[in-house]
Amino acid sequence: MIKYRQHLLGLLSVRRSLLLTTVIVIALFFQLFTPKRTVLTAAGPEKPVRIETKDNSSPAVPVTLEKISTSLKRGSTLQALLLNTGISSSDTVSIIDALSPFLDLTRLKAGQEFEIYFDNKQVNRIIIPASIEKEIHVERLGEVSFKAEESLKELINYPMKKTLTVDSSLYGSAVNAGIPDSIIMDLIQLFSFDVDFQRDIHRGDKLSAVYELVYDEEGKIVDTGKIMEAELKTNGQDLKIYRFVTADGRSDYFNEEGHTIRKTLLKTPINGAYITSNYGMRINPFSGFTTMHKGVDFGAPRGTPIKASGDGTVVIAGYNGVYGNYLKLRHVNGYETLYAHQTSFARGIRRGSRVEQGQIIGYVGTTGMSTGPHLHYEVRYYGKQVNPSTVKFPPGRTLEGVELQLYKNQVRSYNASF
Ligand SMILES: [Zn+2]
Repeated sequence: MIKYRQHLLGLLSVRRSLLLTTVIVIALFFQLFTPKRTVLTAAGPEKPVRIETKDNSSPAVPVTLEKISTSLKRGSTLQALLLNTGISSSDTVSIIDALSPFLDLTRLKAGQEFEIYFDNKQVNRIIIPASIEKEIHVERLGEVSFKAEESLKELINYPMKKTLTVDSSLYGSAVNAGIPDSIIMDLIQLFSFDVDFQRDIHRGDKLSAVYELVYDEEGKIVDTGKIMEAELKTNGQDLKIYRFVTADGRSDYFNEEGHTIRKTLLKTPINGAYITSNYGMRINPFSGFTTMHKGVDFGAPRGTPIKASGDGTVVIAGYNGVYGNYLKLRHVNGYETLYAHQTSFARGIRRGSRVEQGQIIGYVGTTGMSTGPHLHYEVRYYGKQVNPSTVKFPPGRTLEGVELQLYKNQVRSYNASF
């Protein structure tokens, strides 16, 4: 425990005296609110059993052992790798035997790492990092006899707070502030229900975020966790969002009043794009006539990922001369969205596919009637195109009663802690 506090101190090296209290509050807070992450995602519904090793993360390896770190080359096999390090063929056979219940050897990826320990030229132990929280250990039991077992690492989530003022771009400023990429993407996604990132973000806007970092037993950051709260001050609005686990066990984000921030559709289904043509009258680049442009065009480099604006079903994944490769998604409450001129669809996206909000569905291109790479995006309400930037989506879920009380308590304790 002490180790993690020190680690956090090191990371947040500002205003030490105040910080010490804050960190302790955070640590206590986290013991109260965050369940320990010991459950494996790949383990299915059954709770994985922690298998005890002599010491449960890095095994105590006598210093006399010689260590070779190696990784699987493309097109190679585990057998070849073991033989290449000088392991005898009989040991290789029994190691593979011992490993096979724990590791699907046909699905090993190029780059998979192996730490192989030798005792006097004879293999003694192999450690295989299988995921962030799991290692497979193989140990020699005797002459040509090996035992394999799983070792689960105990991972602990701690919150980290970052505050920044937007300089040239929100993304760049967030990177400079040291916010991990995946967290920046999530933040943009969470605020994009209310903020049009092309037009609403300006120099001087302020962002603060509290998010989890996942630490292993040695205090090393191994992953990012969830955003717990965030605040964006832009365009005269002060948007605050908080993560909350509702009674049905699902987590979602709410504003201070307890309204969900998830509206039906995202305003911007693409990151890092700029609007090249808005909804409304314009001169058609092909006919030269003034026509109604019934969508919004986002300029972006070819291959830029396109995200589903909302949860929905793919009703068209096809091609025509005007739209090129295009997808149409059906959402709740009579809404449909359309994404045209794609270079290709994302893997697995076809008619009938279910998609989640924010999921990548395809990539920007210039197929069909198009003068350059861009996404032509339409929102339709009961079949008629509407302006995506002004359409008012119905409000989603609102917390009530006991849940609202619990939520408000949590918000108060967050505000006091961070
Ligand atoms: Zn267009």
